[in-house]
Amino acid sequence: MPSTEAPAETHEVETVHGSVEYETVTCSNCRHELQPAEALPVGIGLEATDDHFIGDQTRTAYTAAEVRHLCTHCAESTLGYDGPPGRFETLTETITSLSTLERALLALGSLALVGLFVLNLAVLV
Ligand SMILES: [Zn+2]
Repeated sequence: MPSTEAPAETHEVETVHGSVEYETVTCSNCRHELQPAEALPVGIGLEATDDHFIGDQTRTAYTAAEVRHLCTHCAESTLGYDGPPGRFETLTETITSLSTLERALLALGSLALVGLFVLNLAVLV
């Protein structure tokens, strides 16, 4: 997880069915308010996180020190990025939801796949 993420602002509106809350984030470039799912989170700087194990090797993993938001228009005009919004959040959710056991299984699974690939090569040769 990044150490700081530009906070979302919570709004509350009254409807005939009661009050409804929704969140917006602000584009760092044009200051336009938009829904978090429509924003493009942009990581700034690097910060070391826990060690990451790949097989028997240990690597230091890094994450963004801070995260700001851009609207898709500003992401394209300033960074040349025209992909879908919201992908960084999805990625960090996936990574942080993995337990140590799941990470170990993932590493073992990758080794098993490599093993099968090598076996396949051995059979073909
Ligand atoms: Zn913008």
